[in-house]
Amino acid sequence: MISEHEVFVGFGSNLGDRRSFINQALQAVSELPTTSLSKLSSLYETVPVGYLEQGGFLNGVVRIQSLLTATDLLEQLLAIENRLGRVRKERWGPRTIDLDILFYGDNLIDEANLQVPHPEFGKRLFVLEPLCEIAPTWSHPRFDGTISKLLHQYQLKHPEEAAGRIVAAPPRFALNEVKDGIFY
Ligand code: ATP
Ligand code: CA
Ligand code: CA
Repeated sequence: MISEHEVFVGFGSNLGDRRSFINQALQAVSELPTTSLSKLSSLYETVPVGYLEQGGFLNGVVRIQSLLTATDLLEQLLAIENRLGRVRKERWGPRTIDLDILFYGDNLIDEANLQVPHPEFGKRLFVLEPLCEIAPTWSHPRFDGTISKLLHQYQLKHPEEAAGRIVAAPPRFALNEVKDGIFY
């Protein structure tokens, strides 16, 4: 039987017209074969982590349903990044668009070019906050507890870290009715 996978993709942009890059990327994801968007978080303005000498980010998380394998999905996401002008120089450097597979159902993938769940997701507020907004009760066999619990634990551990600022609410109408790729 062919089964549809519930996948969470984290996205971020900190170069140029960030919102436009995000809209274009979401449109492109929604047009992938056998793939549809099912839930979108708000858009969060966040400060860079890792390499600090760069502009602020817009981040969010989208839930998709897809029949693509994880490997095919990754290849498609990297192709979308390339089409939107992503150039990789330093790791964690500025980018027009970054698309990371956070979860692929409850699968565990540990390959040279693909690790799922994304190894850093639980250490990043800019991922946990939007993820918790759309999937607070989601849990993965690898982790103890729901996303809501993981976010809470993170906040207790890092009380000084500023929460992302919500700059756009998710679309109020059904995602499959969104026209012309304007999601936010
Ligand atoms: P980070 O992965 O820490 O968020 P990054 O997103 O800046 O850093 P990239 O330069 O976008 O890193 O990606 C480098 C490589 O990471 C990709 O070419 C891809 O093969 C690999 N990768 C491994 N696991 C994943 C995943 N779950 N989602 C997306 N890419 C992944
Ligand atoms: Ca990333
Ligand atoms: Ca990435």
